[in-house]
Parts: sequence; structure tokens; C-alpha cells
Amino acid sequence: MIALVSLTVLKAVKLTPKLVARFALLPLRKVRNPCLYCPGICLASCPTFLDSGNMMLSPLGYSRHLELGKEKCAKCWRCVQECPARHQLPETYSREKARLELRVLREGSPLLVAVEGLDESYASSLSSRLGAGLAVVKALDQRYTEGRPLEGSSARAVVKALSGREAYSVSPEAAHALGLRFLPTAFTTLGLKVKYEGVVHIPCLLRSAEPEILNALRAAGAMITGVDRDSCLKAKPRLDALYLCPRAGKLGLKSVYDFLQ
Ligand code: SF4
Ligand code: SF4
Repeated sequence: MIALVSLTVLKAVKLTPKLVARFALLPLRKVRNPCLYCPGICLASCPTFLDSGNMMLSPLGYSRHLELGKEKCAKCWRCVQECPARHQLPETYSREKARLELRVLREGSPLLVAVEGLDESYASSLSSRLGAGLAVVKALDQRYTEGRPLEGSSARAVVKALSGREAYSVSPEAAHALGLRFLPTAFTTLGLKVKYEGVVHIPCLLRSAEPEILNALRAAGAMITGVDRDSCLKAKPRLDALYLCPRAGKLGLKSVYDFLQ
């Protein structure tokens, strides 16, 4: 199905002079990272489109119908990684901004950074186990569940407060939004082992970090028999895969944090 859709999309994407001109003029446009309504270079990456085959449930549909996107888009950000214009569609659905705030609950180094309402319990138990510090970022998950844009000054303040510290993000969300190192890539550094054999899902938000993630999991003891890049936790999860997203635990799926030794 995915190969068929990819082939169809690739055939549909013709670099016409008009399209090339649209991309070439991009730096002159006033709107930040707009969708250029190209023939859909991002389509083959979209889990809701791949699952439904419905163009309305794709980046092209969502960018024209923001209310639909707010409800149906998985906010997985895969389309952004494929888009030549880096159009940040999944944070255009709401006018309200996500105003971040960092709360340090326990000082210490390294510092584990959790996202409010997402992974605090995993972060808290790991921080106790490792004797590490613990911090929580408030409101960040609104970007990935409600499609709110980040409020720039608050995001910069959080990044500044964490800069220079040995800080690890427990979730792909905080690694993606704040540029923190993703905790699973530091499991061996922190003395953590993973007891797991099977398929591993690459977090949609961190697809470019796939080699680093897989190497780190193998080094921590995981026996990886397959890699899942196609499913999405928030669209159509794969029941047999290990997810590196703490959200998996809440959904009754396998979270890497439940396989630590
Ligand atoms: S988001 Fe980017 S890749 Fe997708 S249709 Fe718009 S311009 Fe094309
Ligand atoms: S964020 Fe994910 S689900 Fe939403 S349009 Fe982009 S690829 Fe599709």
C-alpha cells in the first residue's frame, strides 16, 4: 500500500516551471514557511493519508481545512521533514500559542527533562533511580496534541535555561522542540540496559536520528529484529513494535521505559 501510494505521489510530482518558480520565490514571501500547494511531495509520509487513502486526511487537505487538521492530523511532523519549504503545518491549526515554562523539581546532573502531562512518571522514577535531577516543561505537549505554535520568547527562555547543562529529554517531543539530547541515545552512558527483542519503531519526530537511536539501543542490549518507520502512535500504531515515545505506555503499547533493567 505504502509503496503504491509513494509511486503514485512520485508520478504526480512534476517539477513544472510554475512550481520551480514558487519554490524559488519562497524567500521573498512574507508568510513564514507557507504550504506552496505543490503536488504533494509530503503525501507519502503522512500516516493518516496512508491509512485512509483520503486526500482530505492528508497535508493538502489539512492545510486547506485547518479545523479538520486540528481534529484529524496526528501532529507527527513527518510532512515537515519532507517538505522542501519546511512548512510547519502541524502547528498552524490553532491561533493560541503554547507558552512554555520550565520547572526544576529536583536539582542534579544529569537533568532529566519531562513534558507536563506526558512522561512525568517515567522521568520521576528514572530520576530517583539514577540520582539525577528532574525538570518539567509545561504546555509543550499542546504543540503535539492541539497543533498550537510555540510562543517564541518562552521557548527561547527554556532553551537558555537548559543550555550548558547535561540535560536529556525523556520524550521525542522535548528533544524535537528544544533540541535536547534524546534520553534513549544515552542509555549506556547512564548505565541503563534494555531487555527487548523485536521490532523497534523510530519516533516520527526524530526520523533523522534513526542510526544514532538504533546504535544506542543495540549498545544497551536490545535485539532489534526489524525497524518500523511507517506506523504512527497517534494514527495507527503497530501493536508488536517497541515505541520510544512515553505516550505508548499510556495507550497500552510497549514503551521502551517499561523494558529498562
Ligand atoms: S506542505 Fe510542503 S510538501 Fe506538502 S504540499 Fe505543501 S509545499 Fe508541498
Ligand atoms: S503532521 Fe503527520 S498526520 Fe499531520 S499532516 Fe503531517 S504527516 Fe500527516
